[in-house]
Amino acid sequence: MATKRERGRGERVLPGLWRLRLPLPWAPRVPHGNAWAIAAGSGFVLVDCGVHARGSLADLEQALEMVGLQLEQASLLVVTHAHHDHWGEAATVVERAGCELWMHPDVAHARAEVAEREPGLQRRLEHMRRAGIPDQLIADYAEDYRGSPMYVAGDVRADRPLVDGVRVQTDLGTWTTYETPGHAPSEVCLHLPGRRLLISGDHLLGRVALYFDYGYAEDPVGAFLTSLDRVAGLDSRLGLSGHGKPFVDVPGHIAASRRATAQRQTAVRAALDREPRSVAELLAPIWNSRPDVDSAWWLTSQTLAHLTHLEATGQAARQPDGAQVRWRAA
Ligand SMILES: [Zn+2]
Ligand SMILES: [Zn+2]
Repeated sequence: MATKRERGRGERVLPGLWRLRLPLPWAPRVPHGNAWAIAAGSGFVLVDCGVHARGSLADLEQALEMVGLQLEQASLLVVTHAHHDHWGEAATVVERAGCELWMHPDVAHARAEVAEREPGLQRRLEHMRRAGIPDQLIADYAEDYRGSPMYVAGDVRADRPLVDGVRVQTDLGTWTTYETPGHAPSEVCLHLPGRRLLISGDHLLGRVALYFDYGYAEDPVGAFLTSLDRVAGLDSRLGLSGHGKPFVDVPGHIAASRRATAQRQTAVRAALDREPRSVAELLAPIWNSRPDVDSAWWLTSQTLAHLTHLEATGQAARQPDGAQVRWRAA
């Protein structure tokens, strides 16, 4: 028997602040994402808006309805980062509510999945070729990618660049924007000092899970570690992240993210030898898994992100070898 599809759900976190828990099409791997509604005058500020997929708008509306709000009352849409599970429905929200969209300007990584989808795909394929991923797997990945949905309603431009220091006014107080790249080049956190609240997007998650958007930043892992330092300097008692429940002990989550990154760095460093190896050859020792159509890009990009940081810190060196790039311990 088919299980009944889960719906969007809204719940109050604090007076004037609601969590909108939205189902994602990637259960059980990533079953939900959060958006946040914050009271502001006669309406509310919406932070993130979920993926654009079958039924996603109804989920968002249902979650809002459960806390007595309507999409049309949104006075502003703020996006923590341009991954489709956070900004996918933005075009629809902006049109329905007639509100502005504020988002970080560094969104080439998102354009590459929407308006410039084919060039974006070609860049990925080139990374995989240089990594030594077998041609047949690359071809299968490309076919799969071209046939998969975009999860974004439309390519919208931000009305205002959400950069360091931009303030977001709400009834709870004035939030300040902090750029926290690493997970994505466009990632920001919002901090409300008086209430010690931190909207952390996917930079800091309730349950630590690392992902580095590769190909649109020089050293995503290095940027992520710097961003953790930034957030550590903010006084926060409650973290509101892009996935999972609100969490206390923000410093503990920062420390856990650092530990997880260091562990992965150690594993990648340990797989390197004096003898140069392709990324494809490194996958088994690092991840204990073989790439398939679903995992090829994830494994390649995450390995490259870590290698790039090891290179930046003098622990790895790359070596061109024909059409491929090989890596060795430095
Ligand atoms: Zn993300
Ligand atoms: Zn996310």
